Amino acid sequence: MAESSGTPYPVAVIGASFAGLAVARQLPGPLLLFDRAAPGAFQSSACALPLAWVRHLGLDASVRFSTSRFRCVMNGYEAPIELNEPFCTIDYPTFCTAGADLSHVSFVQSKVHRVEGHTLQTEQGPYEAEVIVNASGWNAVDRPGPPPPKGVGIETEIPARVDAFEFHFDRPFIQNGYGYAWAFPCGDTVRFGVIKYYGRHNLKTLLTAWLESKGLKVGATHGGAVPYLPQEPLVQGAMFQTGDAAGLCFPVTGEGIRLALYFGTMLGWLLRSWREGKRSLEEVRTDYRALVQHYEGKLRAVWKLQKALNRYPFLMGPLLRWGTRGPHFRLIANKYLHCFRPPADCETELARVIG
Ligand SMILES: Cc1cc2nc3c(=O)[nH]c(=O)nc-3n(C[C@H](O)[C@H](O)[C@H](O)COP(=O)(O)OP(=O)(O)OC[C@H]3O[C@@H](n4cnc5c(N)ncnc54)[C@H](O)[C@@H]3O)c2cc1C
Repeated sequence: MAESSGTPYPVAVIGASFAGLAVARQLPGPLLLFDRAAPGAFQSSACALPLAWVRHLGLDASVRFSTSRFRCVMNGYEAPIELNEPFCTIDYPTFCTAGADLSHVSFVQSKVHRVEGHTLQTEQGPYEAEVIVNASGWNAVDRPGPPPPKGVGIETEIPARVDAFEFHFDRPFIQNGYGYAWAFPCGDTVRFGVIKYYGRHNLKTLLTAWLESKGLKVGATHGGAVPYLPQEPLVQGAMFQTGDAAGLCFPVTGEGIRLALYFGTMLGWLLRSWREGKRSLEEVRTDYRALVQHYEGKLRAVWKLQKALNRYPFLMGPLLRWGTRGPHFRLIANKYLHCFRPPADCETELARVIG
C-alpha cells in the first residue's frame, strides 16, 4: 500500500469508477487512486454506453451485450429505432477491475473523509498530493458548494430476454412528473429500472408493479442519484472535479458514463501535459474550465427540455410520436450520439472544442 506520509504525490484521484479511471489512464505515475471499496464492488447504474468507448479503452472483455437497436414504448405506441452505432451493456466489476489494473497506479482502498488544501484525510490516515481529482460521484466527498439538482434511479437485473435497449414512458412513469423506465439487454439477463426527475414516485413499488405486469419478480436492487447540471466550483485550489462529482451528466436521459469518460480523459491528459512541463497548473485550470463551459450551454438547453417535461410530462406522447417518425429523429439522435465521443487525439480535440 502507498505510504500515507512523506513526499507529496503529484496527483491523487478519488473514485475508481468511470471518471476516476479515465483520469488515471492518461496520467504518468506515481499516482494515488482512492476508493472506499474494491474497484467495481458497488454498481449503481445500468452501465449502458457507446461500444466505441469500451473499445477505445481496450476493455472489450467487459461487454455483456451490444446492439444499435432501440425501442421507445408509450401507452401502446412503439417506435423501433436503429442508431448509426451500437451501444452496449458492460459487466461493471470487470470494467473497473481491468480499468484500474495499471502499473503506474497505487490503489488505496480507503474512504476519503475530507480534503484540506493538499491533504486527503482518509480512513488510512492523511495523504498529501499537489493535485487532487475529485471523481467520487454525485455525492462527492467534500464538495464545496450546494449539492447538485438530481434525479433518482433504481434497478434490478434478472433472468429475461429483450433484444433492444428499451425506454418506457407509460402513464405510471410520468404521471407525477417526468421519468421513465428501461429494459437493457445483458445476454441472459435484463437490467430493468426506473428513474424519476421530479414528483413523488415510490420507485421500488413502481418497478415491482411494472415487472409483475410482465410476470417477472424484482431481484436485488441497486441505484443512486443522477445529477443533471454542471456544478461550480469546477476547480478550486488543488482540487479538480469531474464526472458526476462535477454534475456532468445528460439531463432527460440521465446518461453520465460517456461524459465521465470524456471529461475524465481530457482532464487526465491536461494534467499529464502539466506533469510533462508543457502547461502550468493555471493553464490546466483555464483549459479544463473552458472545455466544460463549452458544453455547459448545450447541457443547459437539454435541461430546459427536462424542466418542461417535469411540468408537462404528457408532452412526452406527442414529442415521441413526432420525434420517432421521419428523418428528423435520426438527425437528433445522431447529433446526441456525436457528443462526447472518444477523442482519437486529446490535443486536436481540445483545439477543436476551445480553439
Ligand atoms: C439507476 C441508475 C442507472 C444509470 N444508468 C446509466 C446508464 O445506463 N448509462 C449511463 O451512461 N449512465 C447511467 N447512470 C449514470 C451513471 O451511473 C453515472 O453518471 C456514472 O456512474 C458517473 O461516473 P463517476 O465515475 O463520475 O461516478 P461513480 O460511478 O458514482 O463513481 C464514484 C466512485 O467514487 C467512490 N467514492 C465515493 N465516495 C468516496 C469517498 N468518500 N472516498 C473514496 N471513494 C469514494 C465510489 O465508491 C465510486 O467507485 C445511471 C445512474 C443510476 C442511478
